[in-house]
Amino acid sequence: MYLKEIVINGFKSFADRTRIDLRPGITAIVGPNGCGKSNIVDAIRWVLGEQSAKALRGGNMQDVIFSGTDKRKPLPLCEVELVFSDCEAQLGTAFNEVSIARRVIRDGGSDYFLNGKPCRLKDVQRLFMDTGIGRESYSFMMQGQIDRILSANPAERRVLFEEAAGITRYKTQRREALGKLALVDQNLARITDVIEEVSRQIGTLKRQASKALRYKRLKHRLTHLDLAWQTRQYDKRRADIITYEARATDLRATVNALHDALREREERLATAKAERTSLYEKLQENQQLAYNLRSEKENAEGQAKFADVRAQDLRERTTQVSTELESLDARTGELESRLAGQNETKAAHAGEVETSDEAYRIRQRELDTANARITDAETSLRQHRQDLLMSEGEITRHRSA
Ligand code: ATP
Ligand code: MG
Repeated sequence: MYLKEIVINGFKSFADRTRIDLRPGITAIVGPNGCGKSNIVDAIRWVLGEQSAKALRGGNMQDVIFSGTDKRKPLPLCEVELVFSDCEAQLGTAFNEVSIARRVIRDGGSDYFLNGKPCRLKDVQRLFMDTGIGRESYSFMMQGQIDRILSANPAERRVLFEEAAGITRYKTQRREALGKLALVDQNLARITDVIEEVSRQIGTLKRQASKALRYKRLKHRLTHLDLAWQTRQYDKRRADIITYEARATDLRATVNALHDALREREERLATAKAERTSLYEKLQENQQLAYNLRSEKENAEGQAKFADVRAQDLRERTTQVSTELESLDARTGELESRLAGQNETKAAHAGEVETSDEAYRIRQRELDTANARITDAETSLRQHRQDLLMSEGEITRHRSA
């Protein structure tokens, strides 16, 4: 296996994408101080997972990105790719060539790629374990590090030997296995505690279980009894429902009959009300009639009284006229006697007699007229009395109605 190719893009002084082709035969890269030789070694260490910025001769991990010059702007990210060839045997893979790459962005974030596919740092470390390639291994030596190896103490040197002997992988596996065993021991201790706790709880749980069983049995029995009770209740209620339904039907029929009767009564009531209204109107009419008749009666009584007075007056007048007639008779007698006595003055007095006769006739006519008026007044009085009697009869009839 050998390192075939290094592609550096944006790493430290390699602002442009640079491909270093390390075909067999190339053993060294030379150049003036500061031309970037050590940056290539830094790039290799960085790809293999170097986490220390100091080891890469920088302040922080973002310092590895090209930081710009007077004429060029800084880059936002850097990327380095290593291509190993003839590596089936050493890496135990099916591929002849294996490429590993790392990319870091100035804003943060660092990704590893194995044959172009994203992978974890652990995968890269595991792949190169025991191959002598690795961040901590001896294949890549920093400037001035040869001294460190030569002056290393036995313990430090042992790490190098173990790596060269290919037992680092087993040591790592052993460390992992021991870690797992420790975890298992912890789990076992926890399980023992749990078992103790559980065995303490078993008695209580047994009692609880028997109680639960009893409860379950009783509950079962209760369910059965409840079911039977509910069935019984159901039958009873059903019978009740049938009875109530029959009663409801009867009651509904009764209600309907009552309804009909009520309707009939209501109709009758309406008729009676109408009748009452008409009777009331009639009563009012009759009252008005009675009032009219009463006033008529009063009028008639007034007239009767007036007629009485008039009759009295006429009677008095008749008496007076009779008296006057008597006096006239007396006068006539006197005049006749005077006639006999005074025949000579007879002729003279004949005109006088004639006048007296005339006055007598006039008075006689007045008397006849007065008598006729008395008769008329009496007839009218009789008529009014009869009307009055009829009105009273009418009033009595209306009152009873
Ligand atoms: P020497 O022969 O003295 O060991 P060298 O060839 O090993 O020198 P390097 O140490 O690889 O040289 O390169 C140093 C150069 O890299 C310096 O000029 C330095 O400015 C440049 N450099 C280092 N980091 C960056 C960076 N982030 N961006 C740009 N240039 C950088
Ligand atoms: Mg150098």
